[in-house]
Amino acid sequence: MAYLQKQAIAVYPGSFDPITLGHVDIIKRLADFYKELVVVVANSPAKSQLFTPTERAALIEKSLAGNKNVRVEVFDGLTVDYARKIGASIIIRGLRAVADFEYEFAMANMNRKLAPEIETMIVFTRPEYSFVSSRTVKEVAFFGGSVEGLVPAPVAEALTSKVKAAKENI
Ligand code: ADP
Repeated sequence: MAYLQKQAIAVYPGSFDPITLGHVDIIKRLADFYKELVVVVANSPAKSQLFTPTERAALIEKSLAGNKNVRVEVFDGLTVDYARKIGASIIIRGLRAVADFEYEFAMANMNRKLAPEIETMIVFTRPEYSFVSSRTVKEVAFFGGSVEGLVPAPVAEALTSKVKAAKENI
């Protein structure tokens, strides 16, 4: 099976604005199946983001310190183009709830149309992270709620300073 080969390279693309413990869980669970797992931070101009792509990548690196076969890259093109460029044969995506399904289904099929040789692997989130999203975490942080247990410690710190800076500018 091409998608469970120790010699295969997998990409895990997303906005990661910011990375949450749900993302970290997916990365940790899957990294060992592959020669390398590359977390690809999408530099998508269409989405307005709290953290810059470079900040998001740095937070991922800090949050994953010690995971040897995991690498982080920023890319501002199609995931399949990046996957082809580095010889990756797998795209990993996480599924939290039924609400994610249609979007992930459409994207997996679009990617298959664009690059039939690349397989999308959908992984179910652990139940304890099934309600965690980058968007809700930002909302909680903005209104002063605790994000402990939802994001890695470096992200919690970065959120606190971003929110403080944002509020100073209002
Ligand atoms: P995108 O903007 O492409 O949806 P995200 O950064 O929100 O990117 O998510 C990247 C991937 O991680 C997606 O497949 C998403 O479904 C998955 N994901 C998001 N939150 C979680 C979570 N709490 N647990 C597991 N997977 C998640």
